Amino acid sequence: MSLAAVTAALKQRQSFILTSHARPDGDAVGSQLALAFALEALGKTVRLIDRDAVPQPYQHFPGVDRIELAATASGLADAVVTLECSDLSRPGVAGLEQYFVINIDHHLGNEMYGQVNWFDSSAAACCEMVAAVIDELGVSWTPEIATLLYLGIVTDTGGLRHGPISPRTFEICRRIAETGVDTSRLSREIFDSFGIGRVKLTGAMLCKMELRHHNSLAVLEFDDALLAECGATVDDTEGLVNLPLGANEVRAVALFKPQSDGTCRVSLRSKVDVDVRAVANLWAGGGHKNAAGCTLPGPFEDAKREVLIALERAIDAAG
Ligand code: 5GP
Ligand code: MN
Repeated sequence: MSLAAVTAALKQRQSFILTSHARPDGDAVGSQLALAFALEALGKTVRLIDRDAVPQPYQHFPGVDRIELAATASGLADAVVTLECSDLSRPGVAGLEQYFVINIDHHLGNEMYGQVNWFDSSAAACCEMVAAVIDELGVSWTPEIATLLYLGIVTDTGGLRHGPISPRTFEICRRIAETGVDTSRLSREIFDSFGIGRVKLTGAMLCKMELRHHNSLAVLEFDDALLAECGATVDDTEGLVNLPLGANEVRAVALFKPQSDGTCRVSLRSKVDVDVRAVANLWAGGGHKNAAGCTLPGPFEDAKREVLIALERAIDAAG
């Protein structure tokens, strides 16, 4: 199915619940809210339900205050629209399967779990797909919509640096600028508005960084004690996993965080042909070739060892 099927399904219906994945990132927030504003411009009713709160730097973005945090979806709606979710468990919200589901996503491996699905792994961000949906719906881009599309695109591409960036990506950014939004101010808000605790945490994490496999694999970790020591929060860790990639010899990065339930949360990043999605898949995680994540059962040190072995294999397999 396709963009046309998605837009037809949206046009035919009146009331929607929009959701995205647990621990939302900029693309999850931007794609949900941009679509919400567009549907409302057509007189439709929209509720936004997410499991987890929006990261602090994006909390003042348009419409974020309307997102309901809930572990279960309830109430009448003609359809649920999932954005950025490769399977129906990604939102971490129960009860979604009882609705008519419209699935819009760019993650390879999408399970096409909706009644209507549009999956496009050539999109650098789900927001690129939402931009196309909004155009097909015939809604013009307001500054709010443009701001939200920008949030998704610049966060998923690390500031237009990685992922399947295409002429379409820049064309969308051109049109965003054309609405009059101040993109440098937005970038500052998105990337440079954390607390000083983040800067201290960056130093602490990089000081403890471990390098393996002839410096091709960088290993980072943090726990609640380190966050407290630095005066930082989990939100302050957003994007720090990318930092070691600044070194030419580093080809993959793993960031480990022990969770309060004894599991181990892992964020993975890589360059070019090193496929970290395949590594995350070993533990039922997912993501993209160069950015993926998963959660392993503990003990923490065992989880770390297993992931690092898999990463070294992935680096070797990439040649
Ligand atoms: P992050 O490391 O920033 O949490 O996630 C990187 C990418 O991997 C994102 O595209 C995210 O949606 C995806 N991802 C992270 N964790 C998981 C997971 O547990 N399952 C799946 N399917 N995807 C994940
Ligand atoms: Mn995305």
